[in-house]
Amino acid sequence: MKTISPLAIVPFVSVDNMMRLVLSVGVERFLVELAAYIEEDFCRWPTFDKTPRIASHSVDGVIELMPTSDGALYGFKYVNGHPKNMREGKQTVTAFGVLADVGSGYPMLLSEMTLLTALRTGATSAMAARRLAPNSTSTMAIIGNGAQSEFQALAFRALLGIRDLRLYDIDPSATEKCRRNLASLGFAITVCRSGQEAVEGANVITTVTADKQYATILTDNMVGSGVHINAVGGDCPGKTELHRDILTRSSIFVEYAPQTRIEGEIQQLPADHPVTEFWEVLRGTAPGRTSPGEVTLFDSVGFAIEDFSALRYVRDKLAGTPFYQELDLLADPDEPRDLYGMLARAELAAT
Ligand code: NAD
Repeated sequence: MKTISPLAIVPFVSVDNMMRLVLSVGVERFLVELAAYIEEDFCRWPTFDKTPRIASHSVDGVIELMPTSDGALYGFKYVNGHPKNMREGKQTVTAFGVLADVGSGYPMLLSEMTLLTALRTGATSAMAARRLAPNSTSTMAIIGNGAQSEFQALAFRALLGIRDLRLYDIDPSATEKCRRNLASLGFAITVCRSGQEAVEGANVITTVTADKQYATILTDNMVGSGVHINAVGGDCPGKTELHRDILTRSSIFVEYAPQTRIEGEIQQLPADHPVTEFWEVLRGTAPGRTSPGEVTLFDSVGFAIEDFSALRYVRDKLAGTPFYQELDLLADPDEPRDLYGMLARAELAAT
């Protein structure tokens, strides 16, 4: 068989190795460091190639490709969103991704991204909330207690110090799972019987439900002045979580407006309704929260640059660890044009 040159070997991070990596760093430290990578990349926003993600919709869900490049590195994520999966014992969201060298086009890293998506989504939400939530933030409501929910809680504690949680899910077993996972980590948890009860006294409201419809997880009367809403679950055409009246009285912050206009809560608004891309707040070219009574909304859908940052972070963290396998992913024949010769020599060697 062919000799594998080091150039042709691509590190692969399996789910098992991602868990080892995350646990070796510590989940909350991982979230803080990852948020710093995302923030760094948001601050150089104009450097990136940007496009709304490429979505293939079906009756039950969506499969999406999320590419971006900063001119030196290229990254993409494959991700699905299938709310009905949960009823069949499968996950709503699964993902994997690739980081590549723009100079040669060779892939440099292949990684699971199901865990990494939950981590980067929590990190991004908390990074935005750090600039947008009211100063006195202490209590967060989490409506939707599925796969993403604990990562949201941990990111908000790691970046904003939030320890008091009010949990609600239409499925009490999801809330019990979330409560069990977080209670041992020192959170003060109130289990609620309705969304209305969950938002009482909360200065941050995270909605992270999965339903393939225009849902109304929050109505206008549930949102008091000064609240920050972290709307994570509405991320597809025809899949939203907030009543339109909340949007018209909120200051709305988005990742990449051309994608969020298609997929976010703001799909319910006219295409010229003013929104602020969050990178502008980080760069100081647009204001974040301007008054204590303002309702701020981070209309999160998940953008390719966050996944690029996550892959970049994982690549840097992997160095010197055993948390990857070496994949023989590239043909890379000794003589680059003799691809067939490589195959012919393999045949000879096999006989
Ligand atoms: P999940 O299926 O594991 O959990 C979703 C939970 O929502 C379930 O427990 C379900 O019972 C609950 N739910 C559904 N309808 C509800 C309602 N009306 N009220 C209260 N709870 C309700 O899904 P997940 O992986 O946690 O993802 C949640 C959502 O977040 C999905 O819609 C997903 O597409 C989205 N998501 C967004 C981003 C982003 O970057 N914005 C990233 C990842 C996932």
